[in-house]
Amino acid sequence: MTAVLQSHVQGRWQASTGEGRPMFDAVTGDEVGRLATDGIDMAAVAAYGRRTGGPALRELSFHQRASLLKALAGHLREHREELYAVSARTGATLGDSKFDVDGGIGVLQAYASKGKRELPAGSVLVEGDVEPLGRTGVFLGQHVLTPLHGVAVQVNAYNFPCWGPLEKLAPAFLAGVPTIIKPATPTAFLTAELVRLIVESELLPEGAVQFLAGALQNSGGDLFDHLTEQDLVSFTGSASTAARLRTHPTLTARSVRFTAEADSLNCSILGPDATPGTTEFDLYVQQLATEMTVKAGQKCTAIRRAFVPSAQVDAVVEAVTARLATVTIGNPANPDVRMGALAGTEQREEVRRSLKALTDAGRVVFGDPDHVEVVDADAERGALLSPVLLTGDPDTAAFHEVEAFGPVSTVLPYDSVDQVVGLAARGQGSLVGSVVTADPDVARTVVLGAAPWHGRVLVLDATAAPESTGHGSPMPQLVHGGPGRAGGGEEMGGIRGVAHHMQRTAVQGSPAMLTAITGRWVRGSERTVTDVHPFRKHLEELRIGDTVVGGPRRVTQSDVEQFAEFTGDTFYAHMDAAAAAANTFFGERVAHGYLVVSFAAGLFVDPAPGPVLANFGVDSLRFLTPVKFGDELTITLTAKQITPRDTADYGEVRWDADVTNAAGESVARYDVLTLVAKQAS
Ligand code: NAP
Repeated sequence: MTAVLQSHVQGRWQASTGEGRPMFDAVTGDEVGRLATDGIDMAAVAAYGRRTGGPALRELSFHQRASLLKALAGHLREHREELYAVSARTGATLGDSKFDVDGGIGVLQAYASKGKRELPAGSVLVEGDVEPLGRTGVFLGQHVLTPLHGVAVQVNAYNFPCWGPLEKLAPAFLAGVPTIIKPATPTAFLTAELVRLIVESELLPEGAVQFLAGALQNSGGDLFDHLTEQDLVSFTGSASTAARLRTHPTLTARSVRFTAEADSLNCSILGPDATPGTTEFDLYVQQLATEMTVKAGQKCTAIRRAFVPSAQVDAVVEAVTARLATVTIGNPANPDVRMGALAGTEQREEVRRSLKALTDAGRVVFGDPDHVEVVDADAERGALLSPVLLTGDPDTAAFHEVEAFGPVSTVLPYDSVDQVVGLAARGQGSLVGSVVTADPDVARTVVLGAAPWHGRVLVLDATAAPESTGHGSPMPQLVHGGPGRAGGGEEMGGIRGVAHHMQRTAVQGSPAMLTAITGRWVRGSERTVTDVHPFRKHLEELRIGDTVVGGPRRVTQSDVEQFAEFTGDTFYAHMDAAAAAANTFFGERVAHGYLVVSFAAGLFVDPAPGPVLANFGVDSLRFLTPVKFGDELTITLTAKQITPRDTADYGEVRWDADVTNAAGESVARYDVLTLVAKQAS
């Protein structure tokens, strides 16, 4: 009997007292290890995450957490060969392993860079604009997000033993919430290897990641029984398991956040315009064959339903079949092998059971569910299976309901774009759909019609193809998840995924209170005008609220005419008195908005070289009141947000700019964005 894998909980590797469930090499069928969590105190695991991991993470700023994710990605990249070696035992080819391992590392990197670029310096996430709630501006509202004080429990599926845990870890970690990883049985030995590398890196704070090498339930209890309203569960797996877990009494009683990424009958639609001989036809065929064979079709995003215009069914079947016939199947360690094994023989039996329902309903046009030619492997001891392509009647329910989680797809004919939109929806909610077309009208009708049933839709044409990431690849910047049968969850999606691990709170109060709470200056709070111009202050010396007031400066007709001539902007509102008078917005000639902004810069800058290194843009520029000839402008510039960069000798400063006229009315408002040097150390 092989050894039982250890869990990494409460800061150390812990052995289980149980005999455990076996895991098998997908190619040889040999036992590779066992899984058990008996003897692990589930209540203590959850408490450790909350008491040790949570506070340690919340001590760090978003940027510090982002730096750690980046460092972790680097560490895993250095050791990825070790992961590939173990991954081969899950049946994965090198290409499959890269999809899983490098894909997961890529998610860490994407979140690290988003964290640095899009999140503020501290650890409070301010969402949206300040909302005025009263007449005079002394009572305001602002949404803020703070990290939950619980643990993020991951329940993973077997098909992505590295990518799955990492795509869930990245947003939780960035939010400041510790993670408990529960792998799926068949491939848990690879997740254990990943966790070993994470632990050995010693990069993450104590308690930030725990790993259960086995079930959430043992003789001592069920982890879910110990969850609270501050905890979250992110489930990936089958729709039936999701349905069972989401109704766990503790989860419902305590409103524990539960998201599910479940199975999905994803479709890909060939546009009516994409006839044989077009680039789009070839793209469609290539994509379908690839989605069937990468990871031996064990991708939640793989194409299960291939909708094709009736007239093209034979051509598509012929072209896809020709491609599938060239795929060498067998031991993924053999470099000639293009498709490896399923995760295990149990999973193959499951696929065969589902295939039975599909073959009863349709016709097999490629492959044999019970026989396959393989190289360097024993087709029966290893979980090897031929790709199977079917065709059938699109009205048959089984094609829209039965997911064969392997290299299986069905080509289904359609006769009109409206019909295919309806067929797409019969999947009852999918993670992803694609339409391959060069016709914008087809793209628009399909996407807008099918979007309510999909989490992601790829429109593929000859233009996008060279850079397309493909039908089957969820992207960290974009939502991964889908409605209905696909689980109703939304993972990743950039900073949205981080926000999911935080509580959104509407804070109401005065401007000064909101400034103190958010660390971001709110209009109406105190401004500090000192003898030292704020542009002479280094990042560490600058304070939120530091202000410079410049002006007044009179705007003359000659200024406007000079500006018009110099820039070429002779728009009638500035140059043509009669036309300007006829426009109810102006009533007379007015100054250019860009002239106002330029004058404002002339009034607030401190010109000599100093800590302010560059102005890299403006945000939210609005021209609020026309500036007439003779008006006098005053600029009030106030430091609004200070964001040091950990890895640079400067940071970003956002300034509130308010240009007013002699009557005190705002004529323009905007944020000025600058880079400001830190003090030389
Ligand atoms: P599964 O049987 O539903 O198992 C998923 C996870 O749930 C495993 O970790 C499993 O643990 C655990 N689990 C099962 N029963 C449980 C219980 N009573 N309490 C706690 N945990 C429990 O799915 P799978 O066979 O691993 O994965 C294949 C399925 O996942 C496919 O249908 C596929 O479409 C779907 N999938 C979806 C996505 C997505 O992002 N939407 C991604 C990948 C896969 P054990 O292994 O220990 O039983």
